Amino acid sequence: MQYKKLAELYEALSSTTKRLEKTKILAEFLKHLQESDKEIIYLLSGNIYPDYDERKIGISNQLAIKAISKATGTSSENVTKDWKKIGDLGKVAHELTHRKKQSTLNSHVLTTEKVLHNLQKLPELVGKGTVDKKLSLITELLTSASPTEALYLVRTLIGDLRIGIQESTIRDALAEAFFQENTKEAHEKLQQAIDNTNDLAVVFELSKEGKLKSLGEVELEVGKPIKVMLAQKAATFESAFASLGTPLAVEYKYDGFRMVIHKKGDKITLFTRRLENVTKQFPEVQEYIKKYVTGKSFILDSEAVGYDKKTKEYQSFQHISQRIRRKYDIEKMQAELPIELNIFDILYYDGKSTINETFRKRSEIVRKIVHSQPYKIITSKQIITSDIKKAKEFYKKALNDNQEGVMLKNLEAPYKPGRRVGYMLKIKPEERDLDLVITGAEYGTGKRSGWMSSFIISCKGKSPGEYLEVGKVSTGLKEKESEGISYEELTKKLTPLITKEHGRTVEVKPKMIVSVTYQEIQKSPNYKSGWALRFPRFTSLRPDKPLTEIASLKEVEKDFASQKRNYRYG
Ligand code: AMP
Repeated sequence: MQYKKLAELYEALSSTTKRLEKTKILAEFLKHLQESDKEIIYLLSGNIYPDYDERKIGISNQLAIKAISKATGTSSENVTKDWKKIGDLGKVAHELTHRKKQSTLNSHVLTTEKVLHNLQKLPELVGKGTVDKKLSLITELLTSASPTEALYLVRTLIGDLRIGIQESTIRDALAEAFFQENTKEAHEKLQQAIDNTNDLAVVFELSKEGKLKSLGEVELEVGKPIKVMLAQKAATFESAFASLGTPLAVEYKYDGFRMVIHKKGDKITLFTRRLENVTKQFPEVQEYIKKYVTGKSFILDSEAVGYDKKTKEYQSFQHISQRIRRKYDIEKMQAELPIELNIFDILYYDGKSTINETFRKRSEIVRKIVHSQPYKIITSKQIITSDIKKAKEFYKKALNDNQEGVMLKNLEAPYKPGRRVGYMLKIKPEERDLDLVITGAEYGTGKRSGWMSSFIISCKGKSPGEYLEVGKVSTGLKEKESEGISYEELTKKLTPLITKEHGRTVEVKPKMIVSVTYQEIQKSPNYKSGWALRFPRFTSLRPDKPLTEIASLKEVEKDFASQKRNYRYG
C-alpha cells in the first residue's frame, strides 16, 4: 500500500476529536485493508511489532533531527531552532520537506512495506556504527516522503503519533467493520482475543475472515507475555465487602513489582506488567521455580518483594527497582538486593488456560503446586472470610509485617488480563497516593543549578494522549542516587525527553511515571486538570508501570470526594 494512504488516514483521524467518528473512519479503512498488509495495524498504535514484542522503534529526538536535516538539506541547528519555535518535530519535518519539494522533483513512491521494512530494522541494530546505520534507514524514508508523509513518519519515529487512537478504538472499529450485525458480542470476543494474544494483526486476520467464534477461543500462549489484571481502590472494608460479595479472599498486599512467570518444559520466562522480558535480570527466580513449583507448564502471577539481606526486613519497591533494568553485575545485585516471590494467581496450568476458572479454584491450584520457601518463593498470605472484623485484623497484621495493606478478591471471578474490572480491591492506610507522569520540569538554582529540581506531574485526561497537570513536586528527592530518587538521576532521565524550553522551565514527553503521596487535593484554577495536590512528595519511580496505568482525572476527582469522608480503619 502507498504510505500516502496511511498518512491520509492519520489526517482524517486527527481532524476529529469525536471517538465515534474516529471509529467510523478507522472501520472504513480496516474493511479495505488486505490481509497481506496486516502489519499496518501495528503502525496505527505507533508500533512496528505486536504489543508484547520488546522491539520498539526507540529513536531519540536528536537522531530524528539529524535525519530531517540530511533529508531536507537544512542544518541541524536550524531544524532545532524551528523545533523550539513550533514545538512539534513532525510539523518541522512537514514544513522543511514542503520547502524542499518546491525546488526538487521527487519521483519515489513511499510504500508502507518500505516504511515497515526500514523501521523494523532499527531495533535489530547493535554495536559499532549503529547510529549511522539508523540514520541512513530513516533518511532514506524521509527523502522519499511528501510533507504530510514526513510529518507522520517523524511522529512515528519519536513515538508521538497524536492521532488519538487507543486499543479500544481499534477494537470498536474491527467490530464495526466486520461484525456489524453482532457488535455487542463482537466487542467482548475481540477484547478477549486482544487480551489473550496482545497481537492486533492476529485479531485483524480472524476478524477479516469473519470468525467470531475463533476470536473467543484464542488461547493464551505460554512464553508470550500477557497483560495482568489490575486492582481498584476500595474506600472502606464495608464498601469492598458489598461490591465483592462474601465469602471473599483477603491477601497481604506486598510492596514490590508485578512479575509474571511462564514455564514451558525447562524454559522459564519472566515478564513485568509492561510486558518487558526480565528473565536475565532475575536468575534466582529460575532456580526457585524449578525447585519449588511442580507442573510441566504454567503461567503464575506474582509480586517480587525486596528484603534486607541481613535483617530480612521487607523493603519498599524503590530498593529493588534498580534490578528491573540492570544489564550487568547481575549476580552482585542478586546478592545485594534479594527478592522473595509472592505467588497469588495462575493463568495457565499443564496445557490449559485457567483464566476462566474461578479465583477460588485458581488459588487452590497455586497452593497445591507452589511449595513455599520463605525468602525465596511463597504463596501470598491469605484468609477466606465473610467477617469484616477478621478482614480488618488481617489488615493490621499485614501492616505490622511491613506490607502495604491488603487485597480483597472476589472468589467467584475469572481472571481478566489487562482489565481493571473490580475483582481485586486494594486497601492501604495512606490512601492518598497516585501514580502520575512527569510532563515538565524546572532547573534549580544555587547548589542545584544544572539539575532539574522541581517537576510538573500530570494525570490522564479525557481523550487519549491528553495529560493534565495536577501539581508540582520537589520533595522526596535525594542528593545521591544510592539514597533514593535523586535530582541528578531524574535530570538525566528527563533530558532526552525535552520537547520545549522556556527559560529555566521545560516540557517533557510523558514517559516517566512516578508514585506521589500528598496531603490533600484541592480545586485549582492554576492547573489544567482543575485540581492541585497539596504537599506532594515523590515516593518512587515506577519504570515497571505503563503509561496507561497512571491515575485518570476521574480517579483524582474520586480521591477528592473520598477525602471528605476522611475514613480511618481499624
Ligand atoms: P497498585 O499498584 O497500587 O494499583 O496495586 C496493585 C498491585 O499490587 C498489583 O498490580 C500487584 O503488583 C500488587 N500486589 C501485591 N500483593 C498482591 C496480591 N496479593 N494480589 C494481587 N496483587 C498484589
